[in-house]
Amino acid sequence: MNYNSTRNAALQVTAAQAIAQGISEEGGLFVPQSFPKADLNDMLGLDYIGRAEYVLSRFLTDFTPEEIKACAGSAYGDGKFDDNTPAPVVSLDKHGENKHILELWHGPTCAFKDMALQILPHLLTRSLKKTADGKTAVILVATSGDTGKAALEGFKDVAGTEMIVFYPENGVSPMQKRQMNTQEGENVCVCAIHGNFDDAQTGVKKIFTDPALKAEFAQHNKMFSSANSINWGRLLPQIVYYFAAYAQLLKAGKIVYGDKVDFCVPTGNFGDILAGYYAKQMGLPVGKLICASNENNVLTDFLTTGTYTAKREFFKTTSPSMDILVSSNLERLLYHVTGSDAEVAALMKSLAETGSYTVRPETLKTIQESFGCGWSSEEQVAGEIRARYEKDGYLCDTHTAVAFHVAAQKKRSGVPMVVLSTASPFKFPRSVLEALGRTAPENDFEAMQQLEAATGHAA
Ligand SMILES: *Cc1c(COP(=O)(O)O)cnc(C)c1O
Repeated sequence: MNYNSTRNAALQVTAAQAIAQGISEEGGLFVPQSFPKADLNDMLGLDYIGRAEYVLSRFLTDFTPEEIKACAGSAYGDGKFDDNTPAPVVSLDKHGENKHILELWHGPTCAFKDMALQILPHLLTRSLKKTADGKTAVILVATSGDTGKAALEGFKDVAGTEMIVFYPENGVSPMQKRQMNTQEGENVCVCAIHGNFDDAQTGVKKIFTDPALKAEFAQHNKMFSSANSINWGRLLPQIVYYFAAYAQLLKAGKIVYGDKVDFCVPTGNFGDILAGYYAKQMGLPVGKLICASNENNVLTDFLTTGTYTAKREFFKTTSPSMDILVSSNLERLLYHVTGSDAEVAALMKSLAETGSYTVRPETLKTIQESFGCGWSSEEQVAGEIRARYEKDGYLCDTHTAVAFHVAAQKKRSGVPMVVLSTASPFKFPRSVLEALGRTAPENDFEAMQQLEAATGHAA
């Protein structure tokens, strides 16, 4: 299986090259040339590691089965995730509403980024061995909070890699800032920037595609790479949990084989939800993928009108990991739907130069066949946290609450809905406490203790 760039389909690279490089030299993103079919029956009897091996081996054809096994085992075994269960499904169907939660935050940093960032270092170091002949990879990361810590944790002291994480000085939670600034590891460092996540992401992309910098790094036997979801090695592992969710629903008797399931995904950079689209392309019976946004609802507008406008007011919300106006991975979807590198390149040029673009009506129509959308105001997020706690006894974080709120609006009768839960409620304790009607202390750590005491849940 080879990969093309979304902005130059004539360019062909192997999986190892795509992962080592992170982004294509002209700024495009690497996408697989086709979607191999997966047979769910083959996956039912497997554990999470086995399912990861199954999905990854279909795309990483230049890796040996032993290599993939080693990567998956190191990432998802060894007690890295609570109960050795990386992606449990919790069902809230006591009122017959057929609603399920896929919890993706049982890893080391308590947010869903761990699902991919625990395995990426293994995939990347092996990819470098295959392609980069002894070069050190300098991994640049832009973060709205969660990626930074998860990436630092995943790459600390990994031989052959160095990492610089850029985060918006005033755009991450105190807990996230503290997590990043106390990171251990000789090869990693963090850097606060003036600006928001989009500024960090744009700056990092500029460095990646700067020929002079690239040449200078090559002289020192170094190359740039990425640990953001623009890297194929980040996206690929996320396909696995969609299959894992479906398999768990089957096993629990909540669905029968072949039933369509809708997924509602709290979205920022469009990586998590795009992995669901890939699972669907591989044959998983996915109904609609619902893109849930916070007040930075650029994707709701795009999916409704076909016009993407990043030139708009930027809101700092209680779900900071979704405070994003330029959703990078949408570019991949545009490529799959239009099938045209020239068209994607023109749209991205328009975005860079004018801050917006509009797709053709038939492109929008095709996208709308797979994707629904909605957004939640800050008030609705707080209301949802409280309602889920009081009515269902389920404590969720702010990002998950965005998705819960949208899921309720988009729920189709008779079609099960899975809400992707992307962070532990204890990662954003002040917002969660306030949503429950309590006065939150200034300090995140005290807030965490109060939340534990108030809810009887353990962090
Ligand atoms: C990163 C993140 C998201 C958004 O995921 P994307 O893949 O960027 O769409 C949602 N919730 C949390 C908690 C996150 O860390």
